[in-house]
Amino acid sequence: MSETIKIAIDGPSGSGKSTLAKGLAKELGYVYVDTGAIYRTVGLFAKRNSIDPHDEDALSARFSNIDISLKWEDGVQKIFLSDEDVSELIRTPEASMYASAVSALPKVRAFLLEMQRSFAKKSNVIMDGRDIGTVILPDAQVKIFMQAHPEERARRRMLELNAKGKNVTFEEVYADMCLRDKNDSTRDVAPCVPADDAVVFDNTGLDIPQTVEKALEIIKEKLS
Ligand code: C5P
Repeated sequence: MSETIKIAIDGPSGSGKSTLAKGLAKELGYVYVDTGAIYRTVGLFAKRNSIDPHDEDALSARFSNIDISLKWEDGVQKIFLSDEDVSELIRTPEASMYASAVSALPKVRAFLLEMQRSFAKKSNVIMDGRDIGTVILPDAQVKIFMQAHPEERARRRMLELNAKGKNVTFEEVYADMCLRDKNDSTRDVAPCVPADDAVVFDNTGLDIPQTVEKALEIIKEKLS
């Protein structure tokens, strides 16, 4: 089997990673893997089972009960906890905080490592997350690290949540995002930092088509 093409898109929340990754997957016909959804689902499991999301021993003792799977419908990723589709349930601010907490636990990251790598073995992928270029797919042919000004990131996230009928203010989203940024970039394991060989792409002020276009240029250059 020929080697698959792996494109890693990392960056903080609201940097436009997932929108870009979805756009690129459609454009290139690759499978899109949203790894944040996997951490969110582990967070949901902790919440439902009244497990403190900072308690590594309590959570790891239950790993054998965590059954996560991904399916794609018309290119859209759906995530299942056991047989339940939790794709929408994991999109609340509370779920974000649970995800951020469980993702700082080394055992959780080790537990999810092979699952994430396995997707890239089967087909060409665009995978988005925080440590894809540094830890999960260090051999990715293309690594893009997305950035944008914090206010713009918070505004995008607020509009996204409002569009889904979730009534949140800019101040709430901004505060939540700053806290998560701090957790994600300063944690000991797999902090959210660019890989040495990543292209850092600041898309402040760019709209979605412009962002996709610029990223396609980066990919073309890297793959040529
Ligand atoms: O990308 P998203 O906001 O859905 O991710 C939720 C949380 O999961 C992030 O705040 C981060 O803490 C964690 N995460 C991670 N590593 C990844 C993807 C997400 O630590 N590869």
